[in-house]
Amino acid sequence: MAEKVYKAILTLVGNPLVEEHLNAAQKAVLSVGGKITGDPDGLCDYVAIDIFCDLTPSQRIELVRLLRQLLPTVDFAVQSILHRKKKLLTADMDSTMIVGESIDEMAAALGLKKKISAITARAMAGELDFVEALRERVGLLAGLSTDALENIAESIVFQPGARSLVATMRQNGARLVLVSGGFKFVTTVVREKLGFHVDLANDLAVFDNKLTGNLLLPLVDRATKEDIIREEALSLGITLAETAAIGDGANDIPMLKAAGLGVGYFGKEIVRKATPFQINNTDLTTMLYFQGYKAMEIVI
Ligand SMILES: [Mg+2]
Repeated sequence: MAEKVYKAILTLVGNPLVEEHLNAAQKAVLSVGGKITGDPDGLCDYVAIDIFCDLTPSQRIELVRLLRQLLPTVDFAVQSILHRKKKLLTADMDSTMIVGESIDEMAAALGLKKKISAITARAMAGELDFVEALRERVGLLAGLSTDALENIAESIVFQPGARSLVATMRQNGARLVLVSGGFKFVTTVVREKLGFHVDLANDLAVFDNKLTGNLLLPLVDRATKEDIIREEALSLGITLAETAAIGDGANDIPMLKAAGLGVGYFGKEIVRKATPFQINNTDLTTMLYFQGYKAMEIVI
């Protein structure tokens, strides 16, 4: 039986986007057997553009594979024209909304950065069990003072485009959920500063103004991240096709796969293989272009 053709949009985002990119992408659509159905529509001059096309599901898979080869410096999304602007975003925090891994900064305050960041890197690459690796690192942080935690939370640097992503989706009525395998003392600050509606993260046990090296239950792990997008969608009365998620680590993969638009942000290799949606060249504003927001609609 012949596959059903659906109306699709191929969005290209470059830094900058030039005519050769557009030409190569249009050719790629034709070469996989797709049909271009109208004129391209600019979202942001020299940065982002939509190409409208008819594709079957297997042509779409082939197109993604081909574009990754042909346009390695361009970020792109091939998706249905339906449910373009998402009503829910679940976002990872470390290395996605903020620069770096906050647990590594905590380790630095104790002179243990090298030891702990090596474990973090292996956990995020999917080489270690997430919860075991988390417990091991938190154990090493025993004795760290709550003053040091405050300093770390205050010195957070946001990823480029993080403010615009959250502010623009919020202005358009979307629900914004920050979900992190990191820690509540950081997610609280990030939620307040960026404007997320809610934050979920792990809580550290404290005694006498120092970390004990233990975690409070329940833990936020990879299952929590997937559960939360499903639960939030259910309570909003929306389908998963109307949801977006973004993250960079192995523990984000189930959440990215559950979302209608699940984007890997400078993802580890395992993440790049898990989802067709990637930001590897541009910034978080691209998450808005993928949803069809135009430059003038973006809150700066
Ligand atoms: Mg992360």
